[in-house]
Formats: sequence, structure tokens, C-alpha cells
Amino acid sequence: TIAVLGSINMDLVIRCDHLPKPGETVSAQSMTEVPGGKGANQAVAAARCGGAVRMIGCVGDDGFGQKLLANLIAESIDCDAVLKAESCESGLAIVNVENSGENAIIVIPGANARITPADVRRFENAINDCDVLMVQLETPQPTVLAGIQTAKRSGAKVILDPAPAATLGDGLLDVDLICPNESEATAIVGGRIETIDDAVAIAKQLHARGPAAVAITLGPRGTMLYDGARAELIESIEVDAVDTTAAGDAFAGALAVRWAETGSLRDAIAWANRAGALAASKRGAQPSLPQRTQIDAVCD
Ligand code: ADP
Repeated sequence: TIAVLGSINMDLVIRCDHLPKPGETVSAQSMTEVPGGKGANQAVAAARCGGAVRMIGCVGDDGFGQKLLANLIAESIDCDAVLKAESCESGLAIVNVENSGENAIIVIPGANARITPADVRRFENAINDCDVLMVQLETPQPTVLAGIQTAKRSGAKVILDPAPAATLGDGLLDVDLICPNESEATAIVGGRIETIDDAVAIAKQLHARGPAAVAITLGPRGTMLYDGARAELIESIEVDAVDTTAAGDAFAGALAVRWAETGSLRDAIAWANRAGALAASKRGAQPSLPQRTQIDAVCD
């Protein structure tokens, strides 16, 4: 079983000719509601990869909250540990997209900010019998830390996707695997990643901060894995990338499922690279997350 402790958002995707400047009013062409949030995206990614998935999170007591819950349940995700915050709006992302592709996004944490370390302790049983706990940084850091500590006690492996980019308290890095992209990795340890050698150096610096293993995702170049002994670039497959939104979430979900199944991090990353590539080859966030059969098909 895979437990995901993280955010659940409704993305309101607004399409317009051009983004409004401060003080300006523009007319939009359309508004679409799309379930999102990194936590929920990763839960859906893992479920589509065949994992038994349990979500730990919080929605608001508004209409969006009901829709978000229904969406997760339709993906066969266990939502017994999803709280409904009273007098609170669900997490929202206002995603303004210009026809040129340029965007401007406002995230309202809403109910995601309400989940506390005490809630995590209350749902300890949801984590205790899991193989893997996945966490990200769209819920409060003390809550994420409580999840990491609970998983440590129960022996579950912890995967931290440190997104969105942030500086981290040290306890947060005491995980089995951290899987940042390039900008998230350098937000933690500084520096820049241009070459593969840069990625090796940054992976080693991150490893020195606590995680047992580091997997830096490098978009089309694949993933740099450093396990404390050896650094290896695990290449992705070639695809026509049309929209890389949620490539990282597809990667993380697939990684958790395959790692729990095989116990081999290297094998799990090679498989997860394909999931990330497939997501990059399709538009949208959750709609682009691949099914297990699609990932296996490109492995052959
Ligand atoms: P994020 O979406 O978090 O920025 P990345 O863009 O690094 O993450 O993508 C995650 C993984 O998905 C990469 O490590 C890679 O394996 C795969 N991937 C992403 N974009 C492409 C692409 N254009 N071609 C092939 N693989 C890709």
C-alpha cells in the first residue's frame, strides 16, 4: 500500500488572449475545473500504476471539496483519512493561461493549510501498514514532518518530493528518497545544474543533508540517482513533449509503486522515467497521468 500525505486542489484553468496587467480587466474564453494539487496528482498517478493508494489530506466544506473527493474515489483511492475542514474553502489554483502558453498562477492553500501534526497522529494507522509514504510541500511543513516521523517508526519508506521549491528544516530531509527537479534541488543546496556533472555534485550535496538516496529529475535527460555509493544517470525515453505539467507527479507515483513492488530503486526509476515521459507527451495534469499498461508497453 502507498500512502500519500499532501495537497488536494481544484485547478480553475482560465484561458485568455493575454494575461491582465495590474488594474486591467480582460475577457476570458473559457474556465475549466480540473482536479489537481501535487498530493492528489501523485495519489492518482500511483493508483493508475496499479498501487493500492490511501490519501491523507483535507478538503473544504464547499462544492469543490465534494467534487475533489468524488474524483479521488473514482480513481479507487481510499479517502477514509481525508478530512473535511469546517467553514473553510478547498485548496484552489487559479491558473491563467494566455494563448501563447504563458501563464500566471495563484494558489490558495485553503483546507490544505488546516491539516495538522495532530491529524497525522490521528491517522497513524493509515501510515503504519504502508510500504511507502509520499509527501510534498503543499501542506504545512510541521505536518509533513509528523508524517515522516510516523513512517520512520513503522518502517515505511518515505519519498519526499520537495515541491514547490522551498528551504527545508533538517528533519524533513531524514527520508529514504528525495526526488526534486533541478530548481527544487538547487533551492535546497544552492548552486546551478547545467551539466550532468553539476547534477552529480548537487545530488551529493543533497545526500549529505540526510536523505538515504537522491533522485534529481532532469526533464528529457532522465534522472540522476545517487544512493550514497554511486551516481548514475538513468535515461528517459524519447517523446514529443507537448506539456510537461505533472511529469514530476507521474514520475513520483510510478516510482513509489514500482519501488514497493521490486525493492530496486534503479529499476523503479527507469520505469518512472517512462511514466514522466508519457505525461509530458499529453496535455493537462491528471488527464495526462499514464496507466500501468501504457508504461509497460513502452518498456517492451
Ligand atoms: P517536473 O515536472 O517536476 O519539473 P521533470 O520535468 O524533471 O519534473 O520530469 C520528471 C521526469 O519525467 C524526468 O525525470 C523524465 O524521466 C521524465 N520526462 C519529463 N519530460 C520529459 C521529456 N520531454 N522527455 C522524456 N522524459 C521526460
